[in-house]
Amino acid sequence: MLVALLSSFISGGNNPATLLISLSNIIFVITLTNLILRERKNTCEPLKINVLRLYSYCLLTAGLCSLLGSYGFCLVEHRAFTEVYPVWFSEQFSTSVLILPFLLTWKGSLLPKRLDFFRILPLLMLLVSIFGSSHSGGIGSLAMTLPALIWCAISYSLQVTCLLTLLTGITEVIMVYTHWVYHSFEGHIAQIVSARMGIASVAICPVMVAVSVRAINTLVTQLSARANYDYLTRVHSRFGLYEKLRIQDEKTVNTALNVLLLDIDHFKSINDTHGHDCGDSVLAEFAHRVKEVVGEHGIVARMGGEEFAVVMPDACGDNGYRLAEEIRAEIEQMEVQWGSDTLSLTVSIGLSHGQAARRQLVDVFDKLLSEADRYLYQSKKAGRNRTCAAPSVMNKSLVPSSL
Ligand code: GH3
Ligand code: MG
Ligand code: MG
Repeated sequence: MLVALLSSFISGGNNPATLLISLSNIIFVITLTNLILRERKNTCEPLKINVLRLYSYCLLTAGLCSLLGSYGFCLVEHRAFTEVYPVWFSEQFSTSVLILPFLLTWKGSLLPKRLDFFRILPLLMLLVSIFGSSHSGGIGSLAMTLPALIWCAISYSLQVTCLLTLLTGITEVIMVYTHWVYHSFEGHIAQIVSARMGIASVAICPVMVAVSVRAINTLVTQLSARANYDYLTRVHSRFGLYEKLRIQDEKTVNTALNVLLLDIDHFKSINDTHGHDCGDSVLAEFAHRVKEVVGEHGIVARMGGEEFAVVMPDACGDNGYRLAEEIRAEIEQMEVQWGSDTLSLTVSIGLSHGQAARRQLVDVFDKLLSEADRYLYQSKKAGRNRTCAAPSVMNKSLVPSSL
């Protein structure tokens, strides 16, 4: 495109008016290309675009280039500058507002992850509204597509929204031209300018909505990640564990589970002797080791301070004790390096086992947690570094089986 513009600029010869018009087009393309490149470089991810900034880029570029183009056109056609400028400006402005968001967000693939009737409903609504708009006539009818475009913006990705906005805009531009220009351009200049400005203003709204929806979704994901995970130890937070259990309860009908409550022995003395930072680092290493041992067999969560829970589905109830003892042995032989000191620690564990019917998982977990807490207290009282559980659970675990 630039090459074609350059050749028309060169072949324009000595005619200053043609030169000005070509120069205006070249400046338009170069300025927009630079703005696109700058925008892509500035943002940390390709889809993050600032819509108001884009809108002002389009205003600025169209405003400046139209000055040159309109002036050149006036020289050729001997028309008043004030008459030509709005037509030139509205054309360049509407074109750039439609194309720029699409170019900035285009990634290639558009195929959605799932396609069903409800998913394509916004698109159908858009097609209906375009059809309605084309049969209503009048400048106001151009805004008829806006609700459907906003619905698309809420339902689809930013990339798809920009593409649909571009296609809708192009259809509307064609409609404007077939309504007015085909029959007589002259008497309808004001309407054409108004229609183009209307199309541009309508086009930017769904892009704004799509960008806002994206920002809100990102924020929600970040916030729920913060709420669901413990920042220091990277295991589930107490809240995250309950969330996970609630989700699991929706999916399963009947769940048998083990609840292990772990409490580091004499942890306060680590803080007192080596400082709080050392305590933090021990907590992180402890959680990491527990997570490694538990693996896919259960969920690890920090319940508070130096107390952790492991929730493990187990139909027979004979794997909980084995897992608890594996964790205990792993922590017993673990060494944490803190400066020149090598620290070692032990953990006491309380274990409970129970059965939860549908919609009872959270309540049953609460009961098992307090039962596990009682057995944890027994472990502490009996001298620490051990696992205590109900005799029925202990007996079952004596029968050999694998996790
Ligand atoms: P016991 O064997 O009876 O469990 O003794 P303990 O010292 O482990 O238990 P206690 O409840 O007396 O002390 C727990 C300590 O854990 C006190 C508190 O300062 C410390 N603690 C709680 N949360 C954190 C944390 O996030 N970082 C650090 N460094 N220390 C923490
Ligand atoms: Mg403790
Ligand atoms: Mg404690």
